[in-house]
Amino acid sequence: MTTKRHVTIEVSDLTSLHIQCSKCNSVLAIPIGKIDRKLPQQCPNCTNRWGEWEHNGPNHTMDYVVEVRNAAENLKAKMKDAGFTLALELSPEASTRD
Ligand SMILES: [Zn+2]
Repeated sequence: MTTKRHVTIEVSDLTSLHIQCSKCNSVLAIPIGKIDRKLPQQCPNCTNRWGEWEHNGPNHTMDYVVEVRNAAENLKAKMKDAGFTLALELSPEASTRD
């Protein structure tokens, strides 16, 4: 017998955003409800830039994080009264990733 396992997440399951440095793979995890300060624009470990910016310019890291947080919160609010749930299915590789 063959069984298939489907791993899904609902927006309400989201608890934090993880920023993973593409150079050293360090991860910065931020609880979604506590995103309220400036985020680093470079990796705190290897100093790899996480976006293009000028001194005192916009914080692009924060822009990306706020955009994702707002999308998640807007979807949560819209789904509150819906007669169905909406879930994202993870690939087998993602669901077994450490
Ligand atoms: Zn890094």
